[in-house]
Formats: sequence, structure tokens, C-alpha cells
Amino acid sequence: MRTSSEYSEQWKDCTRREVRVWIAFFGYVPFMIAAILLAEAIGFDPNGAVGFVLFGAYVLGVMVPIGIWARVFPCPRCGKRFYHGANRWGRRCANCGLPKCH
Ligand SMILES: [Zn+2]
Repeated sequence: MRTSSEYSEQWKDCTRREVRVWIAFFGYVPFMIAAILLAEAIGFDPNGAVGFVLFGAYVLGVMVPIGIWARVFPCPRCGKRFYHGANRWGRRCANCGLPKCH
């Protein structure tokens, strides 16, 4: 039986996915500020539909794909999805119970 330290490469991948989720989450405000400034610079009214389009583009184009990518992380031991169902961001694999290790 392998120990958690033997899965170090897989845990690095897990950490990479989680860090990108947080970067996407906290990147929303800087993205919107830059996008609104750019929209104003090229003549669009950022208070109109452009703001909603930018919000939708960020959520659908950045946050959703990164969130899905992080959620489908495969368990290093059993190969099934580590996070599954009600086990959102759990500390153990939803299938085999392998504890999360960083
Ligand atoms: Zn597992």
C-alpha cells in the first residue's frame, strides 16, 4: 500500500488546481476594473450591457472551467473523483477515504 507521500506529484497537481481556483476568484475584481477601463477607453458605457457581458464572460470563461477542472481531480489511490457529491472540497477522498495531503 502506498503512503500519501508517494502521491506527492498528484498532490502537487491538486494544490495547483486549488490555487488556480483562488486566483480566479480573487482575480475577478482586477479583471473587471481592467475590462471596464478598457471598455471606457474604446467608447463603451460600462454601466450598460457591457458590464453584464464582461461579468458573464469572466464567470463562464474563467471561473466555471477552472472550478470544474479542480473538482474533477482524480484520487491518487483509487483514480475516481476525489471530490464527489456532498464531499465538496473535503479532506478525504469521497470514494476510498484517502486523506488529503499537501
Ligand atoms: Zn480515492
